[in-house]
Amino acid sequence: MKRAFAPLLLLTLLLTSCGSQAGPEPVTPTEPVTGTVFAMDTVMDFTIYGEETLLAAAESRIHALEAKLSVTEESSEIYAINHNGSGHVSADTADLLDQALALCGQTGGALDLSIYPVVRAWGFTTGDYGVPETEELAELLAHVDYTKIDFDRKQSAVTLPPDMEIDLGSVAKGYTGDQILSLLREAGVTSALLNLGGNVQALGSKPDGSPWRIGVQNPLGDGYIGVLEVTDQAVITSGGYERYFVEDGETYWHIIDPATGAPTHSGLISVTIIGGSGLMCDGLSTALFVMGLEDAAQFWRETGNFEAVFVTEDGQITITEGLTDRFSLADESPFDEVAVLYQE
Ligand code: ADP
Ligand code: MG
Repeated sequence: MKRAFAPLLLLTLLLTSCGSQAGPEPVTPTEPVTGTVFAMDTVMDFTIYGEETLLAAAESRIHALEAKLSVTEESSEIYAINHNGSGHVSADTADLLDQALALCGQTGGALDLSIYPVVRAWGFTTGDYGVPETEELAELLAHVDYTKIDFDRKQSAVTLPPDMEIDLGSVAKGYTGDQILSLLREAGVTSALLNLGGNVQALGSKPDGSPWRIGVQNPLGDGYIGVLEVTDQAVITSGGYERYFVEDGETYWHIIDPATGAPTHSGLISVTIIGGSGLMCDGLSTALFVMGLEDAAQFWRETGNFEAVFVTEDGQITITEGLTDRFSLADESPFDEVAVLYQE
């Protein structure tokens, strides 16, 4: 955790603040402070070109958000809503719910915050994995429908129909990343990189002005399939490889199609979304994974405020048009071809 200030930058600072009433301008240190936090069931790494105290500030913000959003912590707001059928939410949870419900609507329910009891029935929240009985799934699915989540924005109150439970797990890390980036921006930081368990979010560019280079994980094994160059954007992947179990030779993973209640079989094995909002990228990576390549391509053409890298189970990488200059295959990539989706 070494920090050093470049003499040249210091000199510039002295010159610009000379003779003016304004306070000192922020200086970008040449060495970052780095830190690791374990929260939200994952490892989070920070690289911040700024004051060391920002690490502690980021960490306490993350723990505060986790305490409100956790689906398993008995003291959380979400736990209270799930167990009482209704409850009041703080400004953070209200903000997240608002944006997340909008994404559920925009994706036609491919993202559905009320899928939680189904996810639990497959054992993904407990680790007690297994294929649920057909009748049990049908009964649970009958209560999955995000449109029935009653969110009263004025009162900051949420009411659920009987037997419905919600989980913000598909979007919580993206929202958290957005919150940490605002905290850093407000502190004057212009360059930082967060990795929240595979959700990468960049603030600005590297201090030398060049873009951050982010690896896209190989869903079929170790290493990376490619590298993306980004500035001020989130790069968020949903992959079947992240959490799964195998039973009788079948692989079952943690992304569930709300239409069937079963792990998705859309032909995709990973979806990476690149865009300005962590929450949007996090929600869309899950939703487009559910949709499959064809519907996802259509969604991208209609929506247009993000880019994507899709990997299909038959070994094809497809990128959206806006990435053609920013995506390159990694040396170790098992793939040697990339297809491009164009806006028609
Ligand atoms: P990860 O959390 O592993 O990075 P995602 O962001 O894709 O992956 O979120 C997956 C989590 O979201 C699952 O573990 C599950 O709790 C929940 N989930 C699964 N399918 C859906 C869905 N269709 N809509 C909303 N949430 C889902
Ligand atoms: Mg997600």
